[in-house]
Amino acid sequence: MRRTEIYAGEVCAGYIGVYRERRNWKRRWRRRVLRSGALLLAAVLGAAALNYGAGSLAGRMRTAESAEQDFLVATGVQPVLLPATEMAAQAEEAARIEETLPGFPPGATLKEAGELLVVLDPGHGGADDGCVRDGVQEKEINLQIAQAVGRELQSMGYQVQMTRDTDQALSLEERVKLAETAQADLFVSIHQNASEVAKVTGMEVWYSAQNAGDQSRRLSRLIQTGILENTGADGREIREEETLYVIRECGMASCLVETGFLSNRAERQQLTDAGYQQQIAAGMAAGIDLYFHPKTMYLTFDDGPSKENTEKVLDTLKAHNMQATFFLIGENVEKYPEVARRIAAEGHTIGIHCNHHDYKEVYASVDAYLEDFSSAHAIIEEVTGVDARLFRFPGGSVNQYNKAVRQKIAAELESQGYVYYDWNASFEDAVREPREADIIESAVSSTLGRKNVVMLGHDVIEETAECLDQLLDQFPEYRMAPLTEDVTPVQF
Ligand SMILES: [Zn+2]
Ligand SMILES: [Zn+2]
Repeated sequence: MRRTEIYAGEVCAGYIGVYRERRNWKRRWRRRVLRSGALLLAAVLGAAALNYGAGSLAGRMRTAESAEQDFLVATGVQPVLLPATEMAAQAEEAARIEETLPGFPPGATLKEAGELLVVLDPGHGGADDGCVRDGVQEKEINLQIAQAVGRELQSMGYQVQMTRDTDQALSLEERVKLAETAQADLFVSIHQNASEVAKVTGMEVWYSAQNAGDQSRRLSRLIQTGILENTGADGREIREEETLYVIRECGMASCLVETGFLSNRAERQQLTDAGYQQQIAAGMAAGIDLYFHPKTMYLTFDDGPSKENTEKVLDTLKAHNMQATFFLIGENVEKYPEVARRIAAEGHTIGIHCNHHDYKEVYASVDAYLEDFSSAHAIIEEVTGVDARLFRFPGGSVNQYNKAVRQKIAAELESQGYVYYDWNASFEDAVREPREADIIESAVSSTLGRKNVVMLGHDVIEETAECLDQLLDQFPEYRMAPLTEDVTPVQF
């Protein structure tokens, strides 16, 4: 028998028994309570009624003891007696779940405080086989893969709830309701594909633009990348799809993954293989983990503000709910004060680039640099109200114009409490006739999967402003953040 505690003294003092396992067993207890269903609920509610009723203390104790015995017999788990107030809350919660999930057999697990709960939904089940080819049933593969994903996620510390963990029929409404009731953070439905064309292979991910649409899209990309990296399968599309009930109706981020085609003989064989299923599972779990724990990218834009292009960059960042850092040129702030003020108002970090962007002039001497710098600082503060503490050397801290003066400048400004940032990835957009495709390609290839990326771009460049929306889609594994003085500087 498992270790248990019964607060007999509390029973005597007027408390009455309710059934709860020790913390470690809480989840299983919830499941069991739901399994034993109405009978147990009635016992708990009966006990609650007695607690407030006229029964003698001896009578209440007997009720507690016999209910305790009933519970032990029904579940094989030794209960703990808790105070009546907690009992009432537990009973209410159990009743709420019963009510929201009429007749739902395997039971919902409520999210534990501080944990992330992923609901995995193996498609089909029971009489609904899904697609079937050569005796291989989709419902079975879905369940095997979902279970493997669940094990991976649990080993990473996530709480996992399956909509079904046996071969059972389940309506689409029940699947969504389960996730909603459990307050899941994520819902992933797992399916297999079939095509009339036997040679078609690969995986697809579908998401809905409803509810957490942006996050669902990000999740879809991460899951697809994770699986493709692990399996070498063909990546088909990531598609917005509004006809699929489960992903459309879920309030949390969600997607539906078709991990392969049962209609293709080779892929069908792979999909039935436990090793291949495990590769899919590990890839999917890695994608989900990145969804919750993204790496950080600090987007930085130099040389602005300008009128249309900076405005467009700001619009795009706003649409993505992202903040960046703008290293401003004093003269441009004077020209476009409204844009500079908008940068500050929308929560971006403002840093100092220079006042007059001429390498030969600013690097002519330490004094020349410091004079230009303080002009820029003053103009920026006057226009935006921001006392900027971050700066970026024109051309970066190491360039062919500042060899003689760079160390003295850095030392002087650092002693005044300023900190400079170079970059470790770049759009490469400050070139003659930049092309949008090249900008995106440079951004992706220079990132190199780093945990912390300081990305250099230029908001004054038309092509950059044009492609920024598309570019940001390439980095689902990153959260975009503005630089602050607390961020360890990237310096050449
Ligand atoms: Zn299916
Ligand atoms: Zn510059």
